[in-house]
Amino acid sequence: MKKGNAGTKKKLQTVVMAGMFLLLLTGCTGISEDKSVTEEAETALTEAVAVDTTLPEEEEPVQTESEEKQDGAEQVQPEATVASEHEEITPPSEETPPPMEETTHPEDELGNPRGSYGLGSAAFLKDRNILVSLFVTTPESGWTDREQEAVLQKIGVAVDYIEGQAKQYDVSTELIYDWSSQHDLKVEAKTDFPINEDVDFVDRLDEEIAYWFEQKISYEKLLEVYDAEGIATCVFVNNAGISYAIVYDGTDNVKESLILFTGDYYNHGKEETAAAYAHEILHVFGAHDLYEDAEFTREVTDYVADTYPNEIMLTVSGSGTGKITQIISPVTAYHLGWVSYTEEVDRFPQLNRNGNR
Ligand SMILES: [Zn+2]
Repeated sequence: MKKGNAGTKKKLQTVVMAGMFLLLLTGCTGISEDKSVTEEAETALTEAVAVDTTLPEEEEPVQTESEEKQDGAEQVQPEATVASEHEEITPPSEETPPPMEETTHPEDELGNPRGSYGLGSAAFLKDRNILVSLFVTTPESGWTDREQEAVLQKIGVAVDYIEGQAKQYDVSTELIYDWSSQHDLKVEAKTDFPINEDVDFVDRLDEEIAYWFEQKISYEKLLEVYDAEGIATCVFVNNAGISYAIVYDGTDNVKESLILFTGDYYNHGKEETAAAYAHEILHVFGAHDLYEDAEFTREVTDYVADTYPNEIMLTVSGSGTGKITQIISPVTAYHLGWVSYTEEVDRFPQLNRNGNR
């Protein structure tokens, strides 16, 4: 799964809209005698406006009550790609104002995927790239050394797989990730909120990640030290969830990252597979989701399922041995820039990696 990282902008927009809504509410209740409702609305408006004015410059994310309100308001805002899935499993908050119209980009619709190929901190999956590991401790889950080593081992399997697949397309690529010998590739951080699919964490985590990138990880310096072309951070959370990549597709933060859970939310919390890790890593370099109802129309996803049933951007199920048995089809190889052409693009123009228009 993947999502663009334009979340902050959307959040700001939501606050403004919530403010406008509350202003309206204040006006309406003003003529009634229900004072408490009016006061409540006014308080909420003040909070919303206060957040609005501080948000763009705020460097250190401070979790306040008003932010929680803001998150509540945002639950009703349909967001492209990932967010819709999160909303399905997030029960609507009682304090949530009625849905308001939001202008969605036509690119967000199926068949108009926004790609990250050639964009962001991890642009091209060739030559040398860096994967930083960031271990997050939440109020609900921490890490033992052994658990971190297990994750390192799994990332190693994913990296070996990707490097091996590249060779089959005559592409040479190297991913530097081993923090057991290169200590500057491992970082730790803490959140004061849980990160799992039972809560709406996505926007708060987005903000935290942006902050960590400023405070804890220097993408520029690491690129220089390792003489690498690109870099992304793997954010590890030690509980079940839906892993996803935060890709740069032309707006907002160019520093790309992936959120990798140790358990698979869809599979009763069963250990996340190395294939899932490889899948998310491939996203930041331009690979697209090829399963149903993600990025492409049914026509394309049916074709992929029939032609390449074991494609890694389609399925990440485990083999039992821990090895990755999936293939990287010519479609994904094309999205990664490993081949300059594949016949599928002629048949399905929406697969064009540089946009289909
Ligand atoms: Zn995906």
